[in-house]
Amino acid sequence: MTYLAADDRYSSMTYRRAGRSGVLLPAISLGLWHNFGDTQPLEVQRAVLRRAFDRGVTHFDLANNYGPPYGSAEKNFGTLYAQDFRPYRDELFIASKAGYDMWPGPYGDGGSRKYLLASLDQSLSRMGLDYVDVFYSHRYDPSTPLEETMGALDTAVRSGRALYAAISNYPAEQHREAVAILRELGTPVLLNQSRYSILDRGVEDAVLDAVGETQTSLIAYSPLAQGLLTDRYLAGDVPVGSRMSVGHFLKEEALTGAKLDQLRALAKVAERRGQSLAQLALSWVLRDDRVVSVIIGASSVAQLDQNLDALAAGPLTAEELAEIDALSR
Ligand code: NDP
Repeated sequence: MTYLAADDRYSSMTYRRAGRSGVLLPAISLGLWHNFGDTQPLEVQRAVLRRAFDRGVTHFDLANNYGPPYGSAEKNFGTLYAQDFRPYRDELFIASKAGYDMWPGPYGDGGSRKYLLASLDQSLSRMGLDYVDVFYSHRYDPSTPLEETMGALDTAVRSGRALYAAISNYPAEQHREAVAILRELGTPVLLNQSRYSILDRGVEDAVLDAVGETQTSLIAYSPLAQGLLTDRYLAGDVPVGSRMSVGHFLKEEALTGAKLDQLRALAKVAERRGQSLAQLALSWVLRDDRVVSVIIGASSVAQLDQNLDALAAGPLTAEELAEIDALSR
């Protein structure tokens, strides 16, 4: 059936400004790393994307190698885009990235100009897009001069293949350097996409400070720690079909007795607030206004709906924050 987006799609989402740019992003964005490859039925993918957009999620986060297999998330997104979303192109903010392993040989990995621009062309072709809204260097590559990687992002923007440039997984020092180089080139860094959750607070060491100083924004990925910060594993077993049951990126070893105690204690804090653990985890990352958006994954519409409902909750109190602090260390 032809898709018609919900008329009230902008009625409940919160939008936050990315750095000093003109861009507003939904507080909750949808990532296609998992659940959009060839192993997931296309109709489930369609349902999740439609619901997301119907609820104001305008930002979809992809990368060249999302799948499995590599490239299939962009290909499947392209199919659904052509069938459902093309009329809404100007309401969407679509990201892609290159930086990790993509194709064999010396030009399919890293931070070279050769790799980034070829990969971006491939991504555009898989998705059936003329341009992406933001193109990322997916990781800092110490073996390529940063000037070369940033120069490739600048070319991506100047050639019209991308509207904005961004970096992902860059440590604080390289974040500052990247911002300086791209400012000089006249193509500002929009975002640094980094992992951030109650269970992984590494960006608090220095990256968030660099983001604040440079007036850019962090966009947080895996805010639910790939599902650990949800009710998925609270019973202590590994549900069939869960990410942990597949075991590539989230391993059963992560579910120790101590981890379960920690998750259950956090779930109690959530319950007192009338939230699910997933909702608490999202509210917590979004408490910091240097974070423009959290990029969630969802394998079903029910998960997506529950996560988006996090935005209805009030702010965390000082007591709740202290309790979460104690539980996250
Ligand atoms: P999350 O931490 O949000 O984990 C998502 C997974 O958690 C879902 O696939 C689902 O797993 C489970 N889940 C989500 N909501 C619920 C719920 N309400 N109840 C129960 N289980 C739930 O994020 P991801 O790790 O998926 O990362 C999100 C996005 O961030 C990626 O798609 C990608 O766009 C980006 N990313 C970027 C990286 C980078 O290097 N720049 C690296 C990693 C991610 P299940 O399958 O078990 O149902």
